[in-house]
Amino acid sequence: MGEGANSLFPNYGRYPLAFVKGEGSRLWDENGKEYLDLMCGLAVTNLGHAPKQVSERLKEQVDLLWHTSNLFHIPNQEKLAKLLTDNSCGDAVFFCNSGAEANEAAIKLARRYFQKVLGKKDQYEIITFHLSFHGRTLATLTATGQDKVKEGFAPLPEGFVYAPYNDAEALEKVIGPKTCAIMLEMVQGEGGVNRADQAFVSKVAELCKQHGLLLIVDEIQTGMGRTGKMFAFEHYGIEPDIFTLAKGLGSGMPIGAMLGKEKLREAFSAGSHGSTFGGNYLSTAAGIATMETLLSEKLPERAQELGGYIVSKLSEQLSGNPLVKEVRGLGLLIGIECTQPVADVIARLQEQGVLVVSAGPNVIRLAPSLLIAKEDVDRGLDAISSVLNKQAAAAV
Ligand SMILES: *Cc1c(COP(=O)(O)O)cnc(C)c1O
Repeated sequence: MGEGANSLFPNYGRYPLAFVKGEGSRLWDENGKEYLDLMCGLAVTNLGHAPKQVSERLKEQVDLLWHTSNLFHIPNQEKLAKLLTDNSCGDAVFFCNSGAEANEAAIKLARRYFQKVLGKKDQYEIITFHLSFHGRTLATLTATGQDKVKEGFAPLPEGFVYAPYNDAEALEKVIGPKTCAIMLEMVQGEGGVNRADQAFVSKVAELCKQHGLLLIVDEIQTGMGRTGKMFAFEHYGIEPDIFTLAKGLGSGMPIGAMLGKEKLREAFSAGSHGSTFGGNYLSTAAGIATMETLLSEKLPERAQELGGYIVSKLSEQLSGNPLVKEVRGLGLLIGIECTQPVADVIARLQEQGVLVVSAGPNVIRLAPSLLIAKEDVDRGLDAISSVLNKQAAAAV
């Protein structure tokens, strides 16, 4: 720990580790110890650490221009917006700096569409789901379906209603005259790597149509090729009215984005929303290079293939292990659900130089780079299985 550690708020429970260098799926700590990164800074460095395609574009931009403001056109921003709309069902993009801000924009856009475009002033409620995660601003932590993120922050903004995930019947019961939108993740990353069922998602889309509601999909963790498609909703054959991105969009440069369908464009008229840094020259340079790499190297397809391989290999290696309840995932967002807390498994793996992260207390989450070498995957899976199998043996 550096001398300045006490000069920070203690709001993060940090491991006693600091990295000084990264390359691809490898990280090195201050003592020169090497680590295999199977978590990517929480699904952010989807192309690995310091990927050439992005760093070259950034270096060029650093010498040219960093920031002007959204009072002017920003060519990089327009180029990234076009890349995103050309490759999705979204028609218009708003850029910001983080996931929470992207969801905040989605919430504001949904409300404003109803109030200003449709003239329905009393239709402002958004339905979200138990175990969801949507961010840490006041509105997005209220949208989040987990009480632990809300403790001590009252009063919370009004207008959020919750329903159990993967339960269409229960969802139907909470739709009311005030509802304007339904917001969900296709895979709940923070909530435990819980996948939405096809039947549930189809029903959500149908209910939105039937009741005239907006469908908002939070793709902040699942987007940018991670789940085997550029955006996870593509697996389900639906088109959201609004979806949000951040984490993997800039390969580690802070950037978020909210995309919406054409009919929503006028709801964000000039002056209605904004961000000083949103979509500046540097973050959008990283976004362009990231998006171009994902497309040209067909990385969503690779994520799909490699994810299937990981789930089947882990299932095999861990079959019969009484500590393991289920191995599940979508592409390269994978969860190993255990019967007990996984904190010490994660610590054992760190000692062996393998980095994974939890998703809730009992789930080990893997979110490796979409470019990770197969040998590295095998080495990581062997380490994980060996730690879990030793723990099961010790528990007997
Ligand atoms: C990480 C995450 C967020 C919040 O993003 P920040 O950049 O931390 O604000 C929101 N939704 C989902 C699904 C996430 O995984």
